[in-house]
Amino acid sequence: MDTNQAPVVPEQNESWWIRDAEFFFSNGDCSILVENTLFKVHRFLLTRDSQVFDKLLSGGESVQPAAEFAGSVEGVPIIKLQGDTVVEFRALLWILYARPDVTHHAASDVTLVPKVLTISTIAHRYGFKSLESWVASSLLEHMSSKRLTSEVLLSTGQPFDILEKILRVGMDSNVLSLRSLVLLNWLTCLKCHPSLPSSVIDIVDRYDFPEFKGPTYYHFLVGTDQVPPPHVRLLTGDIGLSIAQRTRLLRGFMFLSGLWDSLRTSPPTFSEGEACTHHEERCLPSWNRRWVELVKHDTVLSRCSADVLGKLGEVGSLLMADTFVEAELPSECRNLAFSSLSEAIAQIDQSLAQYFVDLAP
Ligand SMILES: [Zn+2]
Repeated sequence: MDTNQAPVVPEQNESWWIRDAEFFFSNGDCSILVENTLFKVHRFLLTRDSQVFDKLLSGGESVQPAAEFAGSVEGVPIIKLQGDTVVEFRALLWILYARPDVTHHAASDVTLVPKVLTISTIAHRYGFKSLESWVASSLLEHMSSKRLTSEVLLSTGQPFDILEKILRVGMDSNVLSLRSLVLLNWLTCLKCHPSLPSSVIDIVDRYDFPEFKGPTYYHFLVGTDQVPPPHVRLLTGDIGLSIAQRTRLLRGFMFLSGLWDSLRTSPPTFSEGEACTHHEERCLPSWNRRWVELVKHDTVLSRCSADVLGKLGEVGSLLMADTFVEAELPSECRNLAFSSLSEAIAQIDQSLAQYFVDLAP
């Protein structure tokens, strides 16, 4: 319905709402009530980029999100929005009323990222297409210029919640590069976070992205020094996850422990260097011999039995510094051996998701 034809609802007693201190303009031509806060703003700004607001303020068609008339103020009908928060709506108005230099500043000031993400939520809900594009390009600029680093994210205490919101912006705006930038920061935060919350598992389960799921399940299982460790707490149920999630983690623990059991006696093999004359007789047996000795080193044993990547990394470091390997293998074969180990680590790293799977139906 047109606002001129709005149903006649008596002026309401103002005591049940409060006027927003910043966005209540006497010459505003539309009134929006969010929770208990009334905004009186300029319709043009709400409708020029949002078909949803255009329909909502024109009336006549039912639109989502839902809204309803709630009386009037100073002769202007009040439209009450459902499901939004005052913080979200204020952030939306902040950017709609912002001068160009302010929007430019928001794209370069990393402390404004939470506000930009709040804007992204409500902009998407009401179909502000240009605003969604601005949010995506701002976040892309923050991440690609390395202003929004994993250190900054970790300092917020909620790195994974923020990264999920950025991931969603990338998906909604079809900015694929945001996803790869989020992944880089996600992986660093996984490795640096002292104690991963179970909510990281909930987040990756909302998406079908193995590059996020595999490392997240893996680091949740092995990457913390909590006591008792997560794989023990999985059995007691004292970890705040669903049965399906715990099952996946336990299966991952079982498969990865089995993989290590096989790797600790059979190191990745490697071909002979062009100048090597005693590969089968000396290089391979020497490499294998030191391998099975060094997998018993304290730094390797101290890692969880499913921490295949951590154990392989430790063995690799020990072999790199090993004088016996240096004496027994010519440099070309040594390089081939370490390349083979690096490839094995990379292959496991890239296929982690396959270890954390559901039971067959
Ligand atoms: Zn050799």
